[in-house]
Amino acid sequence: MTGLVISGITKKFGNFTAVNNIDLHFNKGEMICFLGPSGCGKTTLLRMIAGLEEPTNGSISFDDSDLTRVPVHERSIGMVFQSFALFPHLSVGENISYALKIRGYSRSDCEDRARVLLDKVHLPGIEDRRISQLSGGQRQRVAIARALALDPKIFLLDEPMSALDANLREAMQIELRQLQQELGITTVVVTHDQTEAMTMADQIVVMGNARVLQTGAPTDIYKNPANKEVASFLGTSNLLPAKVTSDTTVETAGHSFGVASIGGFSKGDEVLLMSRPEDVTVSVDEQETADNWVSGTVTFIRDIGAIIEILVDCGGHEVISVITPKDCPDVSVGKTVSVQIPKSACHVLAN
Ligand code: ATP
Repeated sequence: MTGLVISGITKKFGNFTAVNNIDLHFNKGEMICFLGPSGCGKTTLLRMIAGLEEPTNGSISFDDSDLTRVPVHERSIGMVFQSFALFPHLSVGENISYALKIRGYSRSDCEDRARVLLDKVHLPGIEDRRISQLSGGQRQRVAIARALALDPKIFLLDEPMSALDANLREAMQIELRQLQQELGITTVVVTHDQTEAMTMADQIVVMGNARVLQTGAPTDIYKNPANKEVASFLGTSNLLPAKVTSDTTVETAGHSFGVASIGGFSKGDEVLLMSRPEDVTVSVDEQETADNWVSGTVTFIRDIGAIIEILVDCGGHEVISVITPKDCPDVSVGKTVSVQIPKSACHVLAN
């Protein structure tokens, strides 16, 4: 199989299993994000792709060639570490061309390559600077340029944005994605930042507890999370305890909700009714005759300019609605409201 293929990969440290029997397949040129909470095994999986960690079981191949036992320096991999790991005693240009130099490339080839790569990462003309003279964002771009010096087939980045402040992080996410698309290089990024994964990835791998919880395109996972862990980790979700009442309905807080599908559940099953805040509307009018509504009490209103979040207590369960200021009803904390969720936005998940 072409592309990056991970088959039955397991990594144990003594008795502890950090990565548990993972199978994944990605096409060449895709941007993949490993997303999940701290300790779920993302970095360990990335390090096995890099060859920095040996799998206990399983194999990794790229473009039909088995990499599992290939040493790091023969894998055609470029890696950016969380700390950037730049050499402080070398100039920017020497950092970027370091791998070329130790492979015997001439000084002028090294300098040319450093110049080309600095242009690519939008830092032309800084090859003679010291690393200590660079900002955090510039260091990151230099680390990216250095990782690309040998024209690798696979580009790996471990939490590349974590050392940057919030504004710079957003700008770099877009820049990194554009660079990756321009180069068409198969790229794996480890992150625990869902926005980062949603911004950059063709495929997101949501991990939890050493396993893959779900793999797919960002919007597919966002719209159809496989379980409550994924729903909670990728975006904000409303999860109301409910009971399946028919092939097309569930009941929660004494109200019947039509749902998109009850999936593999049966009448009587205890489930969760999942919805996304942007699909929930809050209204001050009585909805007696309408379907898919429940009443509640407003507990908090958070106005953050472009959007307003309204938190509503519905029978002891919190429901969040996100709306734009122009659509915001006349609500205040303590007011009784009705919360509506259209059938197409109601998903049934295991409790
Ligand atoms: P984070 O986001 O915090 O970096 P992660 O999802 O990348 O987390 P890993 O670094 O892959 O998680 O670690 C997975 C588990 O394996 C953790 O419980 C970690 O303590 C353990 N682990 C990682 N490396 C080793 C090691 N060399 N020896 C023993 N345990 C390890």
